Amino acid sequence: MKVILAQPRGFCAGVDRAIEIVEKAITVYGAPVYVRHEIVHNKFVVDDLKKKGAIFVKELSEIPEGSITIFSAHGVAEKVELEAKFRNLPVLDATCPLVTKVHNQAIRDEKAGRQIILIGHAGHPEVEGTSGRVKGGVVLVQTADDVKSVIVKDPDNLAYVTQTTLSITETRGIIDALKARFPNIVGPDTKDICYATQNRQDAVSIMAPQVDLLLVVGAKNSSNSRRLKDLGNELGTTSHLIDSAGNIDDSWFAGVKTIGLTAGASAPEVLVDEVIDHIKNLFPQTVVEPMDGIIESVNFKLPKELRKFDKVINN
Ligand code: SF4
Repeated sequence: MKVILAQPRGFCAGVDRAIEIVEKAITVYGAPVYVRHEIVHNKFVVDDLKKKGAIFVKELSEIPEGSITIFSAHGVAEKVELEAKFRNLPVLDATCPLVTKVHNQAIRDEKAGRQIILIGHAGHPEVEGTSGRVKGGVVLVQTADDVKSVIVKDPDNLAYVTQTTLSITETRGIIDALKARFPNIVGPDTKDICYATQNRQDAVSIMAPQVDLLLVVGAKNSSNSRRLKDLGNELGTTSHLIDSAGNIDDSWFAGVKTIGLTAGASAPEVLVDEVIDHIKNLFPQTVVEPMDGIIESVNFKLPKELRKFDKVINN
């Protein structure tokens, strides 16, 4: 058996930063710290942070007065920010800076008098956060088909933004449909799809045709992980999304000589290692080959409230 490891795969800069924010907050302020929503969509990461002293809540109302409050990497609606201010909760914002960029774009477009169309998946926390930044509300479009029935106020005064973790192919189809129906719509093309999503999808596009089976390590509620699995299937390679090695059905390997292995942006490398161990247990002669690919060097600064403790922690 041969396993080709995707490059890049796994944690992105936004996820690294969000996890570091929670860990550092526990170090400098002490446990517990409260995190609104799963900090990133991965149970392993969330369980690990719970053990270290993080408490995950759905709503701010569950957070006791004065407790350190962390917003997840997916971002929050303005009303959540205002509620935290109203309650004087000390907030550390782990919203990925690339999500904040989309928020700012939507706010600017609305100020310029445009109605905002948001391309994304209903119910995803990033979509809720971005929708909640636009005072007049957004029109949500999930598929190219949705575009046919969209009702807008003024077809000549529209802007679109997108969720950062969608499939490039899917997004392009929706943007084309929007431009065909509303020729004067403005938007950032596919640039809202973040570098990490793009790089992981590009790696799968190169890898999928070379392998008999693609395994994507990632949570079912992780949008970017689901897209990697869908992309593999679209390219004709049987693809499965697995939380961990425990989800593998060994019958998948019948007749398979080469496996492609990747991980979504919120899946830690330790879970990829466990999948490799599982395959090696079944096929002791397995050869693991990392593919050539982009080495990412993106790094996002921590919030200033935590940066000021750097010297204390490092000394
Ligand atoms: Fe940020 Fe992209 Fe990572 Fe999401 S996937 S946290 S947008 S870098």
